[in-house]
Amino acid sequence: MRWKMELRKRIKSAAGLENFFPLYEEEKLWFQKTGGAVSNSIVSNNAVSNASSNNVASNNAPSNAAVSKNETSSREAPPFAFQVTPYFLSLAGKKIDDPIRRQCVPLERELHCRRGETADPLDDQARMKAPRLVHRYRDRALLLVTDECAVNCRYCFRRYYSGGGRGPIRGNELKAACSYLKARREIRELILSGGDPLTLDDNRLFEIIDILREARPGLILRLSTRIPSVLPSRVTRCLARGLALRQPLWGVLHINHAQELSADCRAAIRRLVSAGIPLVSQTVLLAGINSDEAVLEELFRSLIARGVKPYYLFQADLAEGTGGFRVPIRRGQQIMKALRSRLSALALPEYAVDLPVGGGKVPLTPSYETDEDADSVFFENIEGKRGAYPKI
Ligand code: SF4
Repeated sequence: MRWKMELRKRIKSAAGLENFFPLYEEEKLWFQKTGGAVSNSIVSNNAVSNASSNNVASNNAPSNAAVSKNETSSREAPPFAFQVTPYFLSLAGKKIDDPIRRQCVPLERELHCRRGETADPLDDQARMKAPRLVHRYRDRALLLVTDECAVNCRYCFRRYYSGGGRGPIRGNELKAACSYLKARREIRELILSGGDPLTLDDNRLFEIIDILREARPGLILRLSTRIPSVLPSRVTRCLARGLALRQPLWGVLHINHAQELSADCRAAIRRLVSAGIPLVSQTVLLAGINSDEAVLEELFRSLIARGVKPYYLFQADLAEGTGGFRVPIRRGQQIMKALRSRLSALALPEYAVDLPVGGGKVPLTPSYETDEDADSVFFENIEGKRGAYPKI
């Protein structure tokens, strides 16, 4: 299988990278300071493997106080291992600010934390109700089916887990997840994520889905993946057909820049669309990579032209060492305002943030409401014109 060979040939060292392009000083420094080959076993496996299926999910306020006001940028961030597919690297340019390069080649600044950054910013581990099963919102849950990714994104918010060496979900873990899902009929959607579920081969992936389906026949599955962008050869016709047989299932593609939509990536998306799999996309707002109205406009227009509905634009999470990627929220809102005047609702995602320490998702879409009186609510439209709508 071509995609498996590409995975085996992933670049994991400075020397490997230098076969593609010379490195800049700050890139070299990351490899020098970390020794290059590091493991991601940052957080103990216990939190993942000791989760009890007896716990009860809650929508309450954040359950831990991992964000300390005293945290400063002088705290060191644990290194997040480097790995990238030759394919994704072949899309990168030689300039240090190339959008593909910045998403996959580490910089020394990643080794420093900014205030508020934590190892597990979404507080997955506090909401793990069975091994690898996170239940945060009443009607949906998340199953981390593997910790393997094709590429380690430098802004990854789940770095406490990704590439931790645990591998695919085991039989007993899947059994515990099924028991939890059977007991919690209020869960109507299950997000299959990781890691990246599409790093599993077809047999294992389909087997996992079939076992989940047997436990909960009506469950709507969302398969979250970065694969069409970073390893499009993995999206074979056989995979697309197999997924299409396992409806209801949505593909949620993680794509950040139009430069990722190469001919190979477009063909991978086409195979999924032709098989009849509904697709939406998630984009992370990343400083210097896509923090620009024109860049995002091009991306979102390209996505809808290919049958992918832009779904979320995420404010980057407070993961350790990722401060260099974050865009101020006010700037994000400015971008959204500009995009609203340029794009239809079909092309416009929701701008949202996952609040730190498991506070949940909050929309950041700028409000157009200005004020109200006894009879009406007043708004300012995208051209700055004032309008009223009566209170009924
Ligand atoms: S694909 Fe997702 S989980 Fe994997 S490194 Fe990228 S952001 Fe993290």
